[in-house]
Amino acid sequence: MNPPNSAILCKCQIYHRLDDEKLTQVITALKDAGVRLRITEDLCHDAVHHPEKFRDANVFIGCHHRTLQALCDFAGKSDQATVFDVNHDVEKLLDTLTATPSDHQDAYSEDTVCRDWIAWYPVIDNNRCVDCGKCADFCMFGVYAFEEKKVKVVKPSGCKTDCPACARMCPANAIIFPKSTEANINGALELVVKPDAKQNESLRARLQARKASARLFKEDVK
Ligand code: SF4
Ligand code: SF4
Repeated sequence: MNPPNSAILCKCQIYHRLDDEKLTQVITALKDAGVRLRITEDLCHDAVHHPEKFRDANVFIGCHHRTLQALCDFAGKSDQATVFDVNHDVEKLLDTLTATPSDHQDAYSEDTVCRDWIAWYPVIDNNRCVDCGKCADFCMFGVYAFEEKKVKVVKPSGCKTDCPACARMCPANAIIFPKSTEANINGALELVVKPDAKQNESLRARLQARKASARLFKEDVK
């Protein structure tokens, strides 16, 4: 495991998905160990608006492992990142610090995020995605693009806040909504949960209805 050299810690200040006591414990330990530390209010927001911040960090501390990894991929981080879940990995993180004291004294910064947009959007677990394109076909708001047989999240701001519908129909359980409270959607589960057939049927029916009404609307405005 890489020793923390330069870490980014997310406080999840908008949806409060992290344990405050554990956050304080980890921040104090990282500062005491002299790790170069950048604290952010919302890493989901940074992945869209400040992907450059991901480049220099080698450790990411926030919510779930798969989620943090998918956010790094989305932000275009090409080198290896080590991820820690604040709610479950405090001991492991503290052990790493004790084993590898650092000398970046006072290298500490805290960023606030602009709150004019709630960073609710999907990221993709590339270890699971089979590039079937169903999410791009399902979403009516242009959040996904399916180009050259690869699917990508291209318009996160188009996503409807608190709606994780596309995650429910993904056959590979590869779509993660970091801020969801559902473990099979927010990246907490390491197990693949296949979509429920009945639920999928009703989602498909709703999609067809939405597509039909969108077609009617287009014809009306001609
Ligand atoms: S969902 Fe995870 S990555 Fe996003 S703001 Fe909350 S802790 Fe940070
Ligand atoms: S529906 Fe799931 S598996 Fe298919 S392209 Fe989208 S994310 Fe990948």
